[in-house]
Amino acid sequence: MVKVYYDENVATDELKGKTIAIVGYGSQGHAHAQNLRDNGHNVIIGLREGKSAQAAKEDGFDVFPVKEAAAKADLIMILAPDEIQGTLYENEIAPSLEAGNSLVFAHGFNVHFDVITPPADVDVFLVAPKSPGHLVRRTFTEGFAVPALYAVYQDATGKAQETALAYAKGIGATRVGVLETTFKEETETDLFGEQAVLCGGLTSLIEAGFETLVEGGYQPELAYFEVCHELKLIIDLIYEGGFGKMRDSISNTAEYGDYVSGPRVITSDVKDRMKDVLTDIQNGNFAKGFVDDNANGFANFKQMRQTRKEHQIETVGEELRKMMPFVKSAE
Ligand code: NDP
Ligand code: MG
Ligand code: MG
Repeated sequence: MVKVYYDENVATDELKGKTIAIVGYGSQGHAHAQNLRDNGHNVIIGLREGKSAQAAKEDGFDVFPVKEAAAKADLIMILAPDEIQGTLYENEIAPSLEAGNSLVFAHGFNVHFDVITPPADVDVFLVAPKSPGHLVRRTFTEGFAVPALYAVYQDATGKAQETALAYAKGIGATRVGVLETTFKEETETDLFGEQAVLCGGLTSLIEAGFETLVEGGYQPELAYFEVCHELKLIIDLIYEGGFGKMRDSISNTAEYGDYVSGPRVITSDVKDRMKDVLTDIQNGNFAKGFVDDNANGFANFKQMRQTRKEHQIETVGEELRKMMPFVKSAE
């Protein structure tokens, strides 16, 4: 059974008097920095000049070049994009690390796939909110939080676990629960989740449904509503009460169709291909592809992004959402 930590199981002592450098001020960075500050911690930001640095200054933070921030800090949380962390670490963080520091991540990717090899005398752990960054901040200001995972990779001080949990409490996550894991498990399950189900599986399922209706001669606008717009309402019910609550809420016709047709669409060979995806994550093939494409200026990535942006569902959806002022952005 997974170990879960809540506010009452966690002391914040290990962060007391320490300087926390948040490297990056994007989706996760701004949320961690602001939540930690609101909880009374001493936070500085490490960034290059640019849009994020400007935003951090406007939000009242002291911003330093990454190397300087890392040198000032006792705990360095790297919240720059995964693909640049290797170079950033090598050039600007490693030279500033001191024995006893904490080197922290929100995703195990670079450590697990050996892009970053930390020295033996620092604590290395991850605190990974299971949510987009903007909700990490929004739920916190509403007195709530999103759950997070934590894992210790290296315990040089004997206090890595306490420090990791204190950090998780600092961003608010212990309000709702922090689950214990390992770098391997966090990295592999996170990649699998986003690839096979949450992002990859879902968008491909929606596109296939949309195309099937449009190719069947139905109006694209109706297709959009049927296979995309309504999804949120269904997901909200599943989120609140599992498949049971969703199935209680839909009609008997819909529930019958769910049982009869769902397994015809998601067949056992879909699961076989999910296993292939998982294998490519586990053996490092996915990571290698991502890292190599990045070294090549993300040529593949940019091409795929462009192709998918041009899909009819995106243009139809954009027009329809203009007619629905209640569909607000998450930010
Ligand atoms: P973003 O892309 O939102 O933000 C990246 C930040 O890093 C920006 O502030 C950017 O600043 C800065 N940055 C980029 N390049 C450099 C550089 N060379 N030197 C210094 N700063 C730089 O990242 P995310 O918040 O999405 O991801 C951060 C980490 O969190 C990743 O490890 C990711 O896997 C993890 N994570 C992300 C989640 C999410 O929901 N997004 C969920 C859970 C974990 P600038 O404006 O200058 O480009
Ligand atoms: Mg994730
Ligand atoms: Mg991820």
